[in-house]
Amino acid sequence: MKRNIDMSGLGLSEIILSEAAALGEGLHLARVTAQHRDGYSVMTENGENGAAVSGRLNYRSSAPDEYPVVVDWVLVDRADEGANGNAVIHRILTRKNSIERGTAGGTRRQVLAANIDTIFLCMSLNYDFNLRRIERYLAIAWDSGAMPVIVLTKADLCGDVPEKVAQVQTAAPGADIVVTSALNENGHAELRKYLSKGKTAVFLGSSGVGKSTLINGLLGTKVQLTKGIRENDSKGRHTTTRRQMLMVPDGGAVIDTPGLREIRIASPDLSKAFSDIEELANSCRFRDCKHETEPGCAVKRAVEDRSISAGRLENYHKLRRELKHIQRSETMT
Ligand code: GDP
Ligand code: ZN
Repeated sequence: MKRNIDMSGLGLSEIILSEAAALGEGLHLARVTAQHRDGYSVMTENGENGAAVSGRLNYRSSAPDEYPVVVDWVLVDRADEGANGNAVIHRILTRKNSIERGTAGGTRRQVLAANIDTIFLCMSLNYDFNLRRIERYLAIAWDSGAMPVIVLTKADLCGDVPEKVAQVQTAAPGADIVVTSALNENGHAELRKYLSKGKTAVFLGSSGVGKSTLINGLLGTKVQLTKGIRENDSKGRHTTTRRQMLMVPDGGAVIDTPGLREIRIASPDLSKAFSDIEELANSCRFRDCKHETEPGCAVKRAVEDRSISAGRLENYHKLRRELKHIQRSETMT
């Protein structure tokens, strides 16, 4: 009994099709829909199945970022639904982008998700509100090639929303901003605009800002997400799904990614997140001005006349230092 899945609804593109055709002798195209502690779920045109990486792929994957993640396109050995044992993942197709973090204490990167179209950078308008964090998230998001959208949650708990939005606009030049509240579903329609058929969005942000609540709202169902996706449930329930792709009824799919607190910048491009500073830098007297103590520094002048906040420049310096550190460690290994 075959059930045909509309793979274009899963974001299947010509590029993926032709790569699969070039590689896929006897293999089937599938999308990784969930990552569990001990394996994967994949969707083929015939339905969803459990999956594991092949011995060969496992052997060749020396770094954790060479393993499949949601929502990779992969080639598997079977396209049956459920019945015929785990599918075997033989290849990961080229990722159009990935979201990464540095692993704790090390310089190794960990890929959290791949092939993402939209990144919802979530921050609550109450205690979590922090412009420096938005700048950091934004640098990572622009770097990924996906489109960042800043989602300001819990508007009902904030007395000065317009003022906060204005602050975010100065910290995030060029980024779309959506204000939401779970109380009355404010902002949900705006979020849906980024979720057309075949598009995948990821929700990033600190724990407790309301990501799961938003996802539940968009899905229109009480998916077992808030608890199911946490690795340790206080009730001791066996929860092993780390990340999964969830289809939104009117189009698109969303992924919740816990564990974003230690996120780091993977690549040295702050030019979009700090486009205002980098533009001003062209007017500094010295071409290699570091905007610290140099005379004729246009950036310091902007801080003095308050068109750029001192906190923003400080954060720019901090992120640059972090990047240099990462680059240095990478050239050493
Ligand atoms: P997550 O960790 O980012 O997924 O956050 P959750 O979705 O689990 O939400 C954390 C807490 O904030 C829960 O108690 C939610 O009910 C609450 N919450 C989420 N969104 C809102 C909102 O817009 N307004 C208010 N007042 N509370 C919210
Ligand atoms: Zn300067």
